[in-house]
Amino acid sequence: MTVTWHVLGAGSLGGLWAARLFRAGMPLRIVLRNPGRLADYHAAGGLSLTEDGMTNLYPVPAELPDAAAPIRRLLVACKAYDAEAAIAEVAPRLSNGSEILLLQNGLGSQQAIAARWPESRCVFVSSTEGAYRQADFQIVHAGQGQNWLGEPNHRNPPPWLDELVAAGIPHDWTADILGKLWRKLALNCAINPLTVLHDCRNGELLIHREQLHTLCNELREILTACNQGDAARGLEEEVLRVIEATANNYSSMHQDVRSGRRTEISFLLGQACQAARQHGLAAVELHKLLEQLQTFLHRHGLPAD
Ligand code: NAP
Repeated sequence: MTVTWHVLGAGSLGGLWAARLFRAGMPLRIVLRNPGRLADYHAAGGLSLTEDGMTNLYPVPAELPDAAAPIRRLLVACKAYDAEAAIAEVAPRLSNGSEILLLQNGLGSQQAIAARWPESRCVFVSSTEGAYRQADFQIVHAGQGQNWLGEPNHRNPPPWLDELVAAGIPHDWTADILGKLWRKLALNCAINPLTVLHDCRNGELLIHREQLHTLCNELREILTACNQGDAARGLEEEVLRVIEATANNYSSMHQDVRSGRRTEISFLLGQACQAARQHGLAAVELHKLLEQLQTFLHRHGLPAD
């Protein structure tokens, strides 16, 4: 029997996954945080997804965290700082052997969740797809990409990957999900905070080559100390490639800050600095960057964690 997907967090990425699973005929429910959000959702008539300029409305069923039905497969699409608390609200419904898919960027939230719900099989996902909300429950699929799925201690892919194929969700199973997440974290640490502090598009960072070089060296040392040597390889070259390929874009952190949204800094730069401390690495430039970014966020009335 096909297992029902419960999607916790119907924002950009959660909405993108939910719309594609729903139109492929998968049993699916989205879980909204409170009755007010559920009423907003019903007023919107469902989830709308815009792809290649075409918009479709999908009446995905929705429910509250305290609904009665047990949850066997939970896709968590909240921000990293909300994920654990959001799962706690539905945790009494998690059935034996449940699966939790974690779409969060960065690191830290996934490990905390896996430790808190050891009875569940926690699958970590590193996504390079791009989506944004143009209004509540109106999602725009803005960038093609890949979803890497894996578990730190479990090597076998689950049988339900076929459902992602049917839903047209690009994905691959990897035995090195931590490597993927660390690599993405490192790219983010080298690029995103600087775009915020210099208030610039990605391409403008090329005039700060020396600083990028130092940051990449420190990140490489941290990754290596964390047994992530593969994720460290060719980091600076990739940072430069990404900067050139996305020269006209504003980074996601820049967009968050300019729109007054909380960043996921604790799970990105904060994690890199924490790992440096754990391994006795000075990482002077990264710590300086973290401090400057936190000061900047404070000054702009945004949470610095
Ligand atoms: P988002 O658009 O802000 O969506 C997050 C959603 O979580 C919101 O709809 C929010 O509900 C919901 N939520 C928070 N707490 C909840 C709770 N207790 N119960 C139910 N729902 C709750 O964020 P996003 O851009 O999709 O990002 C999600 C994660 O994916 C992040 O870690 C991000 O870094 C990662 N990611 C995103 C993209 C992308 O292109 N968007 C790409 C790669 C990775 P409300 O609407 O009620 O606030």
